[in-house]
Amino acid sequence: MEREVELVVVGGGAAGLAAALRAKKEGIREVWVLDRNERPGGILPQCIHTGFGLHYFGENLTGPEYIHRFVRKAREEGITLKLETMVLELTPEREVRAVNAYDGLLRLRAGAVVLAMGCRERPRGSLLIPGGRPAGIFTAGTAQRLLDVEGLLPGREVVILGSGDVGLIMARRFVMEGIRVRAVVEQLPYPGGLTRNVVQCLEDFGIPLLLRSTVTYIHGRERVEGVTVAEVDEGGRPVPGTEKRIPCDTLILSVGLIPENELSEGAGIRLDERTGGPVVDEFMRTSLEGIFACGNAVTVFDLVDHVTLTGERAGEAAARYLRGELPPPRRVREVEPGENVRLVVPQRITGEGPVSLYLRVSRPLREVRVKVGERSFPRKAVRPPEMVVLRLGREEVEGLGEKVPVRVEGLPLER
Ligand SMILES: Cc1cc2nc3c(=O)[nH]c(=O)nc-3n(C[C@H](O)[C@H](O)[C@H](O)COP(=O)(O)OP(=O)(O)OC[C@H]3O[C@@H](n4cnc5c(N)ncnc54)[C@H](O)[C@@H]3O)c2cc1C
Repeated sequence: MEREVELVVVGGGAAGLAAALRAKKEGIREVWVLDRNERPGGILPQCIHTGFGLHYFGENLTGPEYIHRFVRKAREEGITLKLETMVLELTPEREVRAVNAYDGLLRLRAGAVVLAMGCRERPRGSLLIPGGRPAGIFTAGTAQRLLDVEGLLPGREVVILGSGDVGLIMARRFVMEGIRVRAVVEQLPYPGGLTRNVVQCLEDFGIPLLLRSTVTYIHGRERVEGVTVAEVDEGGRPVPGTEKRIPCDTLILSVGLIPENELSEGAGIRLDERTGGPVVDEFMRTSLEGIFACGNAVTVFDLVDHVTLTGERAGEAAARYLRGELPPPRRVREVEPGENVRLVVPQRITGEGPVSLYLRVSRPLREVRVKVGERSFPRKAVRPPEMVVLRLGREEVEGLGEKVPVRVEGLPLER
């Protein structure tokens, strides 16, 4: 099938649906959302725990409850949801090439494109852990899908490597299903997930968290039979003599998420090494004209509420672009991550709209001053897993120079 479509959104998760709905609200008639999954909603239908929507709806919802509101609205608004549709390629001229079993090959010439492909989990291959290749090694997201969507137990005795949020949430889910969680092993001196998840998922369930430790060997031939865990030094290297073997039949990996960026890269969109996603400005514009990006495809957010807001911003900007009301920026300021700043989004500021600055720190600090150019924003404490969100009004942005250095200062914080 070949045709023109006003707006094509790639990915029908929280970000993509928010973008599609906002564009529709702005008067764009033809909005298509393409998603490779058989149902819309992205990762959320498998997140059956609560903790979603506290900011956006002021309610504590489960993942399916949160996303259902957007899916229902998208259907009511006549947004075209093309499911089981894999987007293969995007060209700089905004031709979207996709394939599914009912249309065959689709070539869509889009007026504007919003990229909302989310992120994926870092697999075992990226960790280079010695040992065999037995059954029983899963990423936390796969284990979540098996347990909460398919109704299958991934194992009986589990060690979790990495203390990212998905791993912490799964530790609690395993205990609830009668699976023994022997330990959560984290190589950093602090947990990788949100404090609320450490308390509610580990401490409340008596699950040991081994900090400054890692898995150095996976035992077992057909099935995992145990793992060796060792302490690590400041450089993350295992300390000889500290090894201990923990028997288990399953190893769960929760060692980080990376934005899906194959399509963006293939199109020649400028990517940011720090985030792994496209460089964007406050309108979520990428480096290619008429192509916008939002949600976890830009950077991994910890709250879906922020994902939704970036989606809405992208959808609104795409609609303005289609109406010819979003000319190329007159002036662009480059944001420069400085001391204790691991990443910042957006990376560019035009000053033509309000700016929500999302940043992550490298080290935990207390009595903090977040400095954006000459401006200073106080915060009680900052931690690497918890995104810092700053809102800059138009006047504050106008006072910024050509380069916008961002740095975070404060006193050391243990946890
Ligand atoms: C286990 C877990 C627990 C979480 N807990 C919380 C919580 O308690 N509170 C909270 O606020 N947030 C939580 N989050 C975070 C939140 O769920 C996510 O940040 C958010 O849902 C991401 O939305 P997204 O639209 O950017 O990406 P996704 O939901 O990943 O959607 C992206 C979609 O794009 C599709 N796609 C990708 N590439 C292509 C392609 N080439 N062609 C077609 N389709 C494609 C994918 O199939 C997917 O459907 C949690 C996340 C996880 C995984």
